[in-house]
Amino acid sequence: MHYFLRALREAAKSWPLLVAAMACSAGVAVLWGANIAALFPIIEVTLRGDSLQSWNDSRVEAAERRLETGRAESAVLEARLTDSGLDPDTAARARRRVQALAAGAEADRAVIAGGRRLAPWLERFVPRDAFRTVLLMVALVVVSTFLKHALLLTSTMLVSWVAMNISRTIRIKIFDKALSLDRAQFMRHGSAGFMAQVTSTSEMLASGITSVYGGAVTEPLKIMACLGCALAVSWRLTLACLLLAPVVGFLMVWLNRRVRAISKSILARSRAFHHVLLEALNNVLTVQAYTMEDFERRRFRACTKDMLRHGMRHAFYHALANPITEILGIGMVATSIAIGAWLVINRETQIFGITITEQPMTVPGIMIFFGFLIGASDPVRKLSGVITGFNVGTVGAQALYPLLDTPSKLVDAAHPRPVASPHREIRLENVSFGYDGADTVLREVSLSIPFGERVAIVGPNGGGKSTLVNVICRFYDPTEGRVLLDDVPLTEIALADLRGRLAIVTQQTELFNESILYNIRYGRWDASEEEIEAAARKAHAHDFIADFPDGYRTMVGPNGFRLSGGQRQRIALARAFLRDAEILVLDEATSQIDVESERLIHEALARYVENRTVIMITHRASTLSLADAIIEVDHGRVTKRPARQQAA
Ligand code: ADP
Repeated sequence: MHYFLRALREAAKSWPLLVAAMACSAGVAVLWGANIAALFPIIEVTLRGDSLQSWNDSRVEAAERRLETGRAESAVLEARLTDSGLDPDTAARARRRVQALAAGAEADRAVIAGGRRLAPWLERFVPRDAFRTVLLMVALVVVSTFLKHALLLTSTMLVSWVAMNISRTIRIKIFDKALSLDRAQFMRHGSAGFMAQVTSTSEMLASGITSVYGGAVTEPLKIMACLGCALAVSWRLTLACLLLAPVVGFLMVWLNRRVRAISKSILARSRAFHHVLLEALNNVLTVQAYTMEDFERRRFRACTKDMLRHGMRHAFYHALANPITEILGIGMVATSIAIGAWLVINRETQIFGITITEQPMTVPGIMIFFGFLIGASDPVRKLSGVITGFNVGTVGAQALYPLLDTPSKLVDAAHPRPVASPHREIRLENVSFGYDGADTVLREVSLSIPFGERVAIVGPNGGGKSTLVNVICRFYDPTEGRVLLDDVPLTEIALADLRGRLAIVTQQTELFNESILYNIRYGRWDASEEEIEAAARKAHAHDFIADFPDGYRTMVGPNGFRLSGGQRQRIALARAFLRDAEILVLDEATSQIDVESERLIHEALARYVENRTVIMITHRASTLSLADAIIEVDHGRVTKRPARQQAA
């Protein structure tokens, strides 16, 4: 739960908006109670065909009369009490009666004082005619209902804004986290995991925050406003009506546990659902080629069915909250009707010997009391939605914050050290590396690559070639040992500085679903169109680009699917050439390019690679011919030798 409290605290940073929203909520609650209270004079007045002024006057007069008779009665009783011959039973009864009269007198004095204070106001603002008074009250109720809804709308908008902003902030944080984690950490969640977090989880959290800030203040305030008025009418009767509250409280606790558990399983299903969806769609070619459509359809149907089942259970428990809280509401009203009716019909003030009211209740009095209870029961029902929202938000926060709190293994240098550009040397000192502490992929590798050297990395599949390059590019930090650029460990160089010196082309080219121009420019955002064309010419991409009707503006499709593998690699090469970096990393970068084009690219490469360090993972003899040195990687063991030995 503390994660959700953290989310609520974060939302509370927008406190001016929330305070404004709560002020609106308080206004709503007051108007809610006031609307019901306004019915009282209407009922009183219409039933008697009286004006409010005369109603008030007669109330005061009646209270004065009661006070007078009460005073006389207590004087007689007190005189009788001084009589020492009085039997104890009669004396006790007389004493109780005197006490009751004193309490009644207290209430009557309050009625008189209130009535006198009210009189000038009624005189000034309320018409003397009974029907006009009713019209005035009705108009007031209508206006206050409008006002109430304006306040409610404002409060809802303010809270929604805060919640949506929170959800946006959280999405931004998840996105930032996905970009900053090292590759192994990223792969632990995968695209599907991040997708689920960005969509479902942050949605759950936002809805939780909206519920809490939107309803956790309004609804209790409404309840308090109505119960406060009901207490003023008769506090004992109000308490009697709340007898059911503990049972409903217990049921709500049970329900909350269920809702929380189901929300958790829904979240797990949402992750599985994103996983199945993305896997099938990202590998749709394989799915179709191996006629696995039915298999994938079944998987997708199974996981959506699972989601549906859990969604239905969630809906059931969510809906169950309503009847449970309504039982409290109806229970309250039923109890009050039973007790109130008994008191009114029998003109009693006590039930089972317990005093419920000081004065016998009038029909309008009891009706207005029912009104307050009904007014309290509706927000009680809505409060159940708030509680469910709280639970959903708690589950969302529990899934999100641990991810946001995961520190990235790639920590950027706090005080980055400068390195000359171009650098002099890349050096690995006793570097060992293993994924997740399992099998060591690189073992105590020590080697040096001076600036301007062209090295080819060769070795069997799975030997660790890509891993070696990834460590040099600091996609991973070594488990042991260190990588240095001009004697400065990579961990002490700003990541942006290091990556700014790198241009990388991998075997699986990653292209954006944008134009060719956009994709090449991704290497250097400020490049002019002429520079982009020059880079494309070097990568022997210009000719095929010019053949497209839209030329450089041709859209490449998701992950460049409208282009052939070789074309994609050439665009990736152009992107790297445009970057004009000190270190060029080519990971099987020409593997899909035809022999003739590759020969031409190598000519361009031979010119381009001068005056920069080039690290090439390759099997091709033609690429090897560009190399000054060969690094052989074989299951963790790394050896470096001059290239002419290879030729020999
Ligand atoms: P090469 O490039 O020489 O074919 P790699 O460097 O890609 O080899 O892989 C070396 C070893 O590391 C392989 O056994 C591979 O299974 C393992 N490996 C590669 N990437 C990961 C990863 N992200 N998580 C776990 N193991 C990995």
